Amino acid sequence: MGEQSKLAVGIDAGGTNIKCALLNSEGKVLLQTSILTDSNAGPEGIKDQIVLLTKHVLDNCSLKVSDIEGIGIAFAGGITDTGKVEWTVHVGEGWSGYDLGAALRSKLHNKLYFALDVQAAALGEGYFGAARGVNSYAVITVGTGIGAGIVVGGKVFTGGLGTAGNIGHTIVDDQNTKICACGNHGCLETLVASGALVERAAKAIKEGTKTKIVDLCKEEMGDITPSLIHKAAMMGDALAIKIFEEAGHFFGLALLNLIDILSPQMVVVGGGVAEAGDFFLKPARDEVKRRAWPPIARNVPIVQALLGNMSGTFGAVSMVFNNIRVRQNDVLVDLSRSIEKEL
Ligand SMILES: [Zn+2]
Repeated sequence: MGEQSKLAVGIDAGGTNIKCALLNSEGKVLLQTSILTDSNAGPEGIKDQIVLLTKHVLDNCSLKVSDIEGIGIAFAGGITDTGKVEWTVHVGEGWSGYDLGAALRSKLHNKLYFALDVQAAALGEGYFGAARGVNSYAVITVGTGIGAGIVVGGKVFTGGLGTAGNIGHTIVDDQNTKICACGNHGCLETLVASGALVERAAKAIKEGTKTKIVDLCKEEMGDITPSLIHKAAMMGDALAIKIFEEAGHFFGLALLNLIDILSPQMVVVGGGVAEAGDFFLKPARDEVKRRAWPPIARNVPIVQALLGNMSGTFGAVSMVFNNIRVRQNDVLVDLSRSIEKEL
């Protein structure tokens, strides 16, 4: 650890897990751990989980709260930069108006930074990941849901209503009758999120399509998942390849709209579906190459995210380092050096 190295804690408070990582400003993970989110415990219970996790990580590294520069928190919902919760997804009831910032400040640290998880993830890819050195870009997560964090001039753009980046509910197929969770039909999410891909595969199998997806399910004694469809695609399975091509086509339509409107220098794509790489991204790039306008917009790089399931914690930490203006030049994340420790 260099003399100039600073330390920060990043927390990713999601509906399934709460993850916590201690990083130095060179991007080295000193310790990381996670626990299952107790969504039934309400805001107070989840706040206690965050406190417990942070103290555990600091204790294990023989550090005091005063040894770190601050704590960043990526949260599964709308939250002000002082930590007041506006809305949530999948973290239980009772959050609206809850002041998570005030509750944590008295227990943990007085330098706390908060952001919606996809927005934190976007900052993380800029600080540690695929968009390092890029000024204006979008990071889109394609998993169970689809959301984007937009960074303009190095800062997260939240929009006048705070809801910018809601790309999962942009309409890409008005003729499609499948109703989305938001009540509309034709949303990107109903066509491209992991559930849509799984449904598409299940339907084809039911209709008698021969596919390696069936064999893989039997072999692994599991259900159909995007990663399993990806495996089948790598084995040359026609159905699996077609599923990603169709999803990639619709994703490309959303992307070219986003690129036409925002004019980003780069688009970074993460989440479970994006792990299929070019099976999914090439058809999307093809749409952008063919249809974005003006022509300069056709060459915007569309790349895979680098931080994987660490994007939330790394993003949370980058909020702290961005704030204290740690020099970015030395930051280079090596995920292989990360250490998992059970709580
Ligand atoms: Zn929708």
